[in-house]
Formats: sequence, C-alpha cells, structure tokens
Amino acid sequence: MTGHSGPGPKAQEVWQRLSEGNTRFIQGCFQGRDLVELRRSLTRGQSPLAAVLCCADSRVAPEIIFDQSLGDLFVVRTAGLVLEPAGLGSLEYAVAHLQVPLLVIKGHEACGAVSAAVQHPDLDEGHITAVVREIAPAAAQAQARGLSGPELVEAATEAHLRRLQEKLTRESAIIREALAAGRLHLVVSKYSLSNGQVEVLDRTW
Ligand SMILES: [Zn+2]
Repeated sequence: MTGHSGPGPKAQEVWQRLSEGNTRFIQGCFQGRDLVELRRSLTRGQSPLAAVLCCADSRVAPEIIFDQSLGDLFVVRTAGLVLEPAGLGSLEYAVAHLQVPLLVIKGHEACGAVSAAVQHPDLDEGHITAVVREIAPAAAQAQARGLSGPELVEAATEAHLRRLQEKLTRESAIIREALAAGRLHLVVSKYSLSNGQVEVLDRTW
C-alpha cells in the first residue's frame, strides 16, 4: 500500500490550497509545472491532498478547476456524482489507505444528469436508468417546493448533494469513523459553469 510517510497537511490547509487554485483558475493564472519531472517523482507512490467526488461532465474536471496537478487529487467521477459501491469503495480506499484528510463533494450548475432526473424520472434507457433513478428522489424533493425551470434543477442538485453527504456517512463505516475521529473532513460544494467559482454549501469544521 502506498500512503503518507508522515502527517500531511490538515483538511483546512488543503481546502485553502484548493480555494487558492480555484482563484488562479478563475483569473487564468495557472501554476507552472514540470509534468515530466513530477511524473518521475510520483513513480514510487501517491499521497494525494484530497479525494473528490464529482460529475463526469467534461466541463468540470477538478484538477483544472482547482489548478492542481498529477498526484494531487484522488478523483471519483460519474454522471451526476451517482455513488455506487465501487465509487464508495474508491473513496474509502483514499480515506483508509491514502489517509486523505479531506473529501470534497463537488456538484455543478446546470447538471445534465440532474436535468434528466427532473424531466424524465422514469427514464428507461440502458444503464442511464440507474443514474436517473439515483437522483430522482432529490428531484422529487425539489419539485415538491413548487419550483420550475433552472431554479428547479439547481434546487434538485443541492438536495442531491446533501443526500450524497448523508449516504456517505450512512453507508460507509470507514468514512463515518474517520469523520468522527477528526481524521477526515468533508466539504460539500457546487461549481458555477458561468463564473468558475466553487461555492461551499457545507463543511465539517
Ligand atoms: Zn453533471
């Protein structure tokens, strides 16, 4: 197993670094890096700063949005951040074996998977059905508030992100115990396609 050789940065410090990276991304002032040298230095193992759960959408790559590089982020991506056992197991691996101090749930504005769950909660189309079905309860929750259009999609997205937060702690003893022991912190966030900002919706400190 690869992992930290000693105590790494704390969750708050890591979030500070990611926030600074997001600011660089917004301003277009990216960190210069020697990727060839970095790749060489990472051949013997990884000790990422954080684990990130985010959408598969091509516009929301966390390494770019947080201006990070090879070896910095342990990322699980599925359409609509739908979390199935293998994805949950991947996050558990990052927590238990790579000792990441921070787990970031990063949803985004105008998510196509959430829109699909809002518009076609009973969709039957191959395995896309599984994606929509997982988001449908959050879509129904937002619909019950009488919202419509983009407002409905954004409210459904935020409800889905909170349900994911609950699901992580309910279904994963590894994550629940790490949070309770203070070894792990969680940030629930949402990325704006229009201004590039990652907004914090909730965090555990
Ligand atoms: Zn999406």
